[in-house]
Amino acid sequence: MSKIVEEVLNANGQYAASFGDKANLPMPPGRGFAILTCMDARLDPAKYAGLAEGDAHVIRNAGGRASDDAIRSLVISYKLLGTREWFVIHHTDCGMETFTNEIMGDLLSSSLKTAQLSESGWQDVGTGPGSPDGKYINWLTIKDQAQSVLEDVVRIKSHPLVPAEIPVYGYIFDVKSGKLIEVPEATEAGKTG
Ligand code: ZN
Repeated sequence: MSKIVEEVLNANGQYAASFGDKANLPMPPGRGFAILTCMDARLDPAKYAGLAEGDAHVIRNAGGRASDDAIRSLVISYKLLGTREWFVIHHTDCGMETFTNEIMGDLLSSSLKTAQLSESGWQDVGTGPGSPDGKYINWLTIKDQAQSVLEDVVRIKSHPLVPAEIPVYGYIFDVKSGKLIEVPEATEAGKTG
């Protein structure tokens, strides 16, 4: 067994040992809201937003972007599980700011090994072959954090399957301070009505 699998299973054993009343939690989030945020390992939505098991939906992907699949989850979140308020939370120092669709396509074309970030940008240090398939994916990269939050709130609010009465709030998590900083123009765009 890999060391990581062993560590995960050990930790889970301890967690399950005191699982207790959480066995009786209902499926719908008790506090009726959802967070769309980045998968970045430094972000822990349960901690930065004060969530306990059963409280809220947390939808995560690279960048916390309003991809079609993120919207699929948000629609299920309100339509079947009753959430009524949503947050879009991107963050400072996001990896999605370090490349473009073209860079990612080129990197994957030359090698499937992990690339390295140097002062001159991403570079392949591993061997080929790669695959041109990466050129057909929109990686939803980020140029400007506030702008990406605004774009995603607008995309969610203007989606035909999202009802007008759900407010969407836009924030940036600061990885240096742990603080959530509002993006006022995004929250404004996410107002109900
Ligand atoms: Zn990120």
